[in-house]
Amino acid sequence: MNEIILLKLGEMVLKGLNRRSFEDKLQANIHRRLNRFGQFRVYTRQSATYVEPKDGSCDVQGAYEALKKVFGIAGLSLARPCEKDKDAILAAAREFLDDRLRAARTFKVEAKRADKTFPMTSIQLSQYVGGELHEAYGSLSVDVHHPELTVYVEIRDFAAYVHANAEPGAGGLPVGINGRAVSLLSGGIDSPVASWMIAKRGVALDMVHFFSYPYTSPEAKEKVLELARLLTPWCGVLTVHVVPFTAVQEQLRRSCPEELFTIVMRRFMMRISQEVAARCGAKALVTGECLGQVASQTMEAMAVTGQVVSLPILRPAVGMDKEEIVQISRRIGTYDTSILPYEDCCTVFTPRHPRLRPTLAEVERAEEGLDIEGMVRAAVEGVERVQIRP
Ligand code: ATP
Ligand code: MG
Repeated sequence: MNEIILLKLGEMVLKGLNRRSFEDKLQANIHRRLNRFGQFRVYTRQSATYVEPKDGSCDVQGAYEALKKVFGIAGLSLARPCEKDKDAILAAAREFLDDRLRAARTFKVEAKRADKTFPMTSIQLSQYVGGELHEAYGSLSVDVHHPELTVYVEIRDFAAYVHANAEPGAGGLPVGINGRAVSLLSGGIDSPVASWMIAKRGVALDMVHFFSYPYTSPEAKEKVLELARLLTPWCGVLTVHVVPFTAVQEQLRRSCPEELFTIVMRRFMMRISQEVAARCGAKALVTGECLGQVASQTMEAMAVTGQVVSLPILRPAVGMDKEEIVQISRRIGTYDTSILPYEDCCTVFTPRHPRLRPTLAEVERAEEGLDIEGMVRAAVEGVERVQIRP
């Protein structure tokens, strides 16, 4: 018999969203994510979700690792099936949980019967298995209140299952349950983390990357596509909209006061991203901006940048220290790619003394005479769409 995976679902008390749509979305995401590990049956009973391999060819361990990156799952554990017999259950526990039984100092056994025809009560079964394990592992003592290790035994219709404490899952909400947003993905550390944070709250993402060939190299673009690929285990399939940005930047270099170049350029990024959002049904923009990190991330600069779009701009990293962002980046696996030394379009033509507190009036004056609509349209029409699969 194959091992199965048990999932504890995340935040169920959702205002305005019901439990059913949470479960349906999560199950659909799980199926998509597990495709390459074989065929699985996924169903929910009494707030636990079961992921069962349909046959022996499934890669259950691979599936288990993949599920650690699926948002909406609060905890997960592998369970070993065995015959519905007290000694078969004991043997399964000893074999399957041997490492953990050796490592723990305190434990308890918690048995549960869905099949009420099983000849022992839950309490009798817990006592039997607990007593035998206590005897077999000399270093273990029983603690029913705060055990390090809980051995769970479940008697279900066709088999009994043994498992231990759940490992923490990715948490959050199933991707897609909160709509779609467009995330501005640079090659840096912050924007992949910001994207991940918003995906964690149940938002499906499309990525926009501004590419300034030949000022930024094909390697810089590959790096961004690789960052998107690293995010797919969390976010699912991603489309990266690569925007040709050279013409806009060259035009702005010719016509903008140098100290306002970056802020005007960022307004174009927002306008273009909003057009992309309209085309893919996205209802917000996401950036990796962080208050005070660079000149374009003062409150004044953010206000002037945000003024050109009507969609909300989500900046989940706005209140974080760099160190905190780096920590998440390492944990989700994007850090090593983010620090590869390729230039970004934001660092091309960077003014020596960017204006820290731009006013809307001076920025609008700097944009006078530009064919804003035409520049945005040309950029959007030149978009290359790259689909990235997990
Ligand atoms: P990051 O580490 O994400 O690159 P940063 O601190 O370098 O952030 P900026 O370069 O000022 O900050 O960019 C701020 C935000 O603007 C980024 O987090 C990202 O969301 C967006 N951005 C910057 N450059 C690009 C780009 N070439 N394509 C798409 N989005 C970009
Ligand atoms: Mg950057």
